[in-house]
Order: sequence, then C-alpha cells, then structure tokens
Amino acid sequence: MLTTHTLGFPRIGSQRELKFAVEKFWSGNLDQPGLEATGRELRLRHWQWQREAGLRFVAVGDFSYYDQILDATVLLGGIPRRFGFEPTTLSRAQYFELARGNAAQPACEMTKWFDTNYHFLKPEFDAETRFDGGPQWLFDELQEAKLAGFQAKVQLVGPLTLLKLARVQGVDALALLPRLVPAYARLLKQLQVEGCEWVQLDEPILGLDLDAQWLAAFTPVYRELAEAHPRILLATYFTGVADKVALLQALPVAGVHVDAVREPSQLSAFTDWPVDRILSVGIVDGRNIWKTDLDAALDRLTPLYARLGESLWLAPSCSLLHVPTDLEQETKLADGIKDGLSFAKQKLAELATLSRALCLGRSVCFQTLEVNRLGLARFQALPARNNPAVAARLAELPAYGRGLSYAERKLLQHARLNLPLLPTTTIGSFPQTREIRAQRAAFKRGELSQADYTRAMQAEIADAVARQEALGIDVLVHGEAERSDMVDYFAEQLAGVAVCQHGWVQSYGSRCVKPPVIWGDVSRPTAMTVEWTRYAQTLTQKPMKGMLTGPVTLVQWAFVRDDKPRAEVAFQMALALQDEVAELDAAGIAVIQIDEPAFREGLPLKQADWPAYLDWAVKAFKLSAAGARPETQVHTHMCYSEFEDILPAIAAMDADVITIETSRSAMTLLDAFGEFAYPYEIGPGVYDIHSPRVPPVVEMTTLLERALRVIPAERLWVNPDCGLKTRAWAETEAALRNMLTATRQVRARLAEVGSIGVTSVLPTMVAHSACNCSHPAE
Ligand code: GLN
Ligand code: ZN
Repeated sequence: MLTTHTLGFPRIGSQRELKFAVEKFWSGNLDQPGLEATGRELRLRHWQWQREAGLRFVAVGDFSYYDQILDATVLLGGIPRRFGFEPTTLSRAQYFELARGNAAQPACEMTKWFDTNYHFLKPEFDAETRFDGGPQWLFDELQEAKLAGFQAKVQLVGPLTLLKLARVQGVDALALLPRLVPAYARLLKQLQVEGCEWVQLDEPILGLDLDAQWLAAFTPVYRELAEAHPRILLATYFTGVADKVALLQALPVAGVHVDAVREPSQLSAFTDWPVDRILSVGIVDGRNIWKTDLDAALDRLTPLYARLGESLWLAPSCSLLHVPTDLEQETKLADGIKDGLSFAKQKLAELATLSRALCLGRSVCFQTLEVNRLGLARFQALPARNNPAVAARLAELPAYGRGLSYAERKLLQHARLNLPLLPTTTIGSFPQTREIRAQRAAFKRGELSQADYTRAMQAEIADAVARQEALGIDVLVHGEAERSDMVDYFAEQLAGVAVCQHGWVQSYGSRCVKPPVIWGDVSRPTAMTVEWTRYAQTLTQKPMKGMLTGPVTLVQWAFVRDDKPRAEVAFQMALALQDEVAELDAAGIAVIQIDEPAFREGLPLKQADWPAYLDWAVKAFKLSAAGARPETQVHTHMCYSEFEDILPAIAAMDADVITIETSRSAMTLLDAFGEFAYPYEIGPGVYDIHSPRVPPVVEMTTLLERALRVIPAERLWVNPDCGLKTRAWAETEAALRNMLTATRQVRARLAEVGSIGVTSVLPTMVAHSACNCSHPAE
C-alpha cells in the first residue's frame, strides 16, 4: 500500500473537550493532571483513528494546549525574555501566561496563520535570543505514541517559516539562523535517537512572494538539518510552488509535500520528480469540508503513481486543523447535504481508499467508490444547489453603483439626516448580557415561545435605545441583541447555507468558530433584520442605523462551495443582501451599515492575485449597497488598521461613511487616508473596545484632534473601534459618556477657532491582539 499520512489533525476534540478542559484549568476548576489527562485522551483517540484509517504514521507534534507555533518556540527555548521565565523549567501555567499575558506582561501578539482563520502567537526574537532548548513536552508525546504502539511522524514548523513569521527586533531576521539552525539540528538528532523515522518540517512560506535572500537560505539550512536527520519531509501548502521545483529538487531532504487542492495545476510541474525522493501529494482538501471526488482524484494520481510508485505519498493538502473533527456528530443536517461533506475523520478514510485503489485497482474498492459516487451524485442533484432564479438574476447583473455620484448623494443625505458636526455613533452591538444569552438558549430549547422571545429582545432593544438617547448619541443602533453572532444570524436565514451543530474549528487558544456551510445557491427567503430595525426606529426620533454583515465577510467566514467561483458565491450573497438593504430603506431606515471586517483577510497570499480578488470583493459590496436610494447613507465598518496598501479598493467601495479601528495604532493609519485624499466620511475608532478600560476624555480629544489634522471636520465621525458585544454595560456607558464629552469639547473648540492644530503626546497603545468580536469565536 502507498504511504498515507496527515500533516496534522484537529486537537480540540469533536465535542470541544480540549477547549473546556483548558478553560477549566484557567479558572482553577481543573488541576494540571486533569488537564493533561484530557490532552492524552484526545491524542490517543486521534492517533487511534489515524491508525484505523490505515495511515502509515500518526501525527505527533500537532497537539497543543494553545498554539503549535508557541510550542515550537518554547521547545527551542526562544521565549520572549520580557517574561523572565527559564525555558527549560517552563511550567504549564507559565506557558499559558506567554499565550494570554499576565499582570506584568501583555500576551504574545496573535496573527492569522497565512490566509486561514487560525491565529498563532508571533515569536519575539532579538539579537540576544538564545535557542538553548525548553521543556521536553514533544518528546513526552512521542514516547506516549510509541508506548501505545503507534509509529510516529513528528512535525514542526520549519526554521525559515518560524523566523519569517516572528517579530524580530534589533537584528536582521536571517542573522539569527546561525543560532536557530543548530537548535533545530539538536532537536532532529534527538528525534532520530528516539527512533522517529520521519520528521515533517512545514515551510509554507515557500509559496509566498519571497525575496532572493530568503530563498537562498533554504539550501544551506536544509543541508545542515539533513545531517541531523536524514528523513525530512519538507511540507509546503496553501499556494503552489511550481516555480520552485528546481530549488526543491536541489534540497537535501528526503521528501517534499505539495498542495494539489489549492493549486491543482502544479502537479504537472512535478512530473519529473526523482523517483528516489518522496513526493507527498496533498489530494484531500484540508481547508474545506467537501467530500473528495475519489474517481477524479484517482485519475489525477494514476500517472504520478505509474512513475513514482511507492515514492508517492498521499495526504490532505495541509493540516486538518482547519476543518471540523467528525461528521458523524452532525445529526441535524439534511441527509442530502451530509452526503456532500467530509470532516477530518472522514478525510482520513478517503486517503485510505485512494491508496488501496491506486495500488490494488479500483475494482478492489468498488463498493467504497460506489458509495462515494452515489453520495456525491445525491448531493449535486439537490435542487437548491442550482437555483434558476438566482442564476437568472446573476446573468443580468445590474449596475453596481448607487445611481448618483457621492457628491450628489452627500447633499441629499445631509439634508435628510441633519446631523451635527462630528456625528457620534457606535458600531452596532451592545453588551450581550447573560440574560440575553439565557433567553436565546431557552428559545432554542423550545422553552420560550417565539412571541415571548420577540418580546424579550424588544425589551433589550428598547433598553439600548433609551441608554443611547440618554447619552446623547446622534445615530443610534438597535444593539444586535437578537444575534448570537454576526455571521450565524444571517447564515441561519439564508437559503443555500447550512449551520452545523458541532462543526467547530479552532480559531485561537480555546476559541473555536463554526463556519456556516455555503452548499447551494444563496437567496433570501424573507427579510432578516427589517422587523427588529423598524421596531427600534419607532422608539426614537434620531436616525436608527440598520446593521448588516457584508457579502465578502459572509463568504470569508464560511466553508464555501468549490464548484462555483468564489466571486459568484459572493455576488449571490450580495444580491440577497441588496434585497435586505432595499427593504430597510423602504421601511424608512436612513442609515444602513454593511460590515466588512473580513474584507482584508480575504486577500490572496500572492500579491499577483490581489487585483482579481479586490475587483470582485469591491463589486460584491457595491452590489449589496445598490439596494439603498441615494438619500440613504451607507456605512461600512472594518476592524483592523492594516489597509494602507488597499486604500484604493476601500475607496472604490463607494461607501458614504467608513468606521475603522485606529485607536490601537494611535491613528497613524489616518495619515495614509490623508495622503490618499480619501474623499468619503470617516469614523476612526477613538477607543479600544477590546479591554474593559474606560479611556479618559483627554485621550479621546487628543485622538480627535489628531484626526482633524488630516480629515476635515465635515467628514469626521466619532465612534468606538468596534462592536461592544463583549463588554459589560457599566464600562460601555462610562466610555461612551467620555466619548460624548470629548466630542462636545472638540466641537466647541472647532466653533471657536474654526480649525485645530495639535501637539499633545498620545499615550502608548496596547499591542494588537486578536479581536474577540470580529469573528464568531466561542
Ligand atoms: N456590527 C458588528 C458589531 O458591532 C460589527 C462587528 C465587527 O465588525 N467585528 O458587533
Ligand atoms: Zn469591528
């Protein structure tokens, strides 16, 4: 049989056992042996599944109590010195302090792992960093696998990827190689002594736009490592490396893994791969949940197998960390939909069938292949997969625009809204209190009737409106009490989209997300937000802002069907939202916000692919916004600040107002907006909602005054950074009260002097950490 293996398996557990154990440990309700018992149980269960599926190796090194990149940093001993921890004796509690911060030190910075929704902890290196080794947890796990009779392949992030992703200060990153590579070599040697036959080193940066210096580093680094361990499998994924075949062939490694799902065409570049080297082909999608078409996969693999024989290995395209664990847990999905899906455990079985069918012939696996064919056929035949009404609407795509130019719209909107200078607003959600969540849970369990639930949520809305009125905010929101989450809320109501029960994927640490499944053509059977918004508007004379999640974000945070272009799915989503926008507009809602917090993260990994993405993403947004009449003001919101490089696209979205996160970057982003001469109105967040801290008035006046240096007062809005759902009411009201005071002070000064010149020194801002509210993390 051919070697099958996985680049990693989800560790969280099909019932999120790890999440709950880790959180109990943090709250002091589980001791360390208890936590470790859960870890061991999960590892053994997952290894067992891998063996049952006939994998040649089980994956060791993919388990982590928080993040595998932090684990690698810790294993090497290169932990941030600012914590003052001794690496070799690092305790679990200290490990979690690195991940989550402590009273004296902020946590390590968290960043998205390539274009996934998984966040890793950024290593922090400087000229003094030593890699003299850390705790032996990896070796304990290897021992554990061996004792249980499993053959292990250990995996680690490769040295160049680790370095490239690290924050390196005071020294050129590559200058750390002379210390880092020997540390890796020592680890590899030790693994060899422990009898670990293969080591997988992940170097996904090979698929990025790498400059010559970094590329040139690969050969010497891997020459040194190959001496320490002759069997290195160098893993690439998420992009194609067809342009690097010569480099890969020249590397002294025993094998290379390539992603044939993300970049199907790249297999043709490997037809001359030397037979004495392993070529591991990622043929099962590690990033998505669709069932593999086994016949098609076999057709692709057959010529490679004919040439490479046993040097061909089969694997998922990347680690299965990015898909949920076990489809069998889903009892409520319609059968037809389930027929098209495959989660991590099912993907292992697909690999096994592929291997058998290649080696022994398809007839040997006739039955399994037939089940695969029938399942896919049933799924593909679901009528809602291809909805003629949606297709017809897409075929005659209307103009993307708003009818009138921004300059003309602005006059109409200002006349209609009649807002003061520096209008104040919030981003949408207000605290999701325990009571709100309890009521929703009761409703879902059937203990609260629809009418009672509606009444309860209306009471929450009325409360939020009253508080905003009392504060004196200009453009109100209803507070999003009825939404468990900004994506799920829409996913549950749209046709063509399913929500799983246990489809959890780790996002960071103990946080998991449950991406909706866009399996069919998307349409909107009924209005989704209109009744709540209309009700909220009846409670106030002030404009009530309608609140929608945008098409790009709804697609970005879902598992998206792969039989149609992503752009087409986004347009379908956009049309559904366009109808919602039009209905809100018709109901008299004068301001509508279409949130696009995931707009930037959809950017492809290779810069060459950016224009195509930005083109459809902008069009999708405009298509949604086109539902609004010119006199209705369209806002968008994005909660990150790194978009200097995509400002032209942001402007092309043609949103009348954008609210953005800037408080943590002390508004430096605004300089970019100023330089680019962004013509629309902007609400740069004046305070960070990610912490309960109540910023004093002066901090916000300082930020506003700084903003006024690049944005004319007529185009400046005042608002927090992001939604307030993760906050409590006490700090929310206190912070907003200060925000209103700051606004009044700045307005008064503007009235006095007409303009403002400022020299005040801004407080140091906290390092960026993952946003609790920007994605559905629970
Ligand atoms: N309207 C959403 C909220 O306030 C926006 C959240 C976000 O952009 N992350 O919660
Ligand atoms: Zn936000």
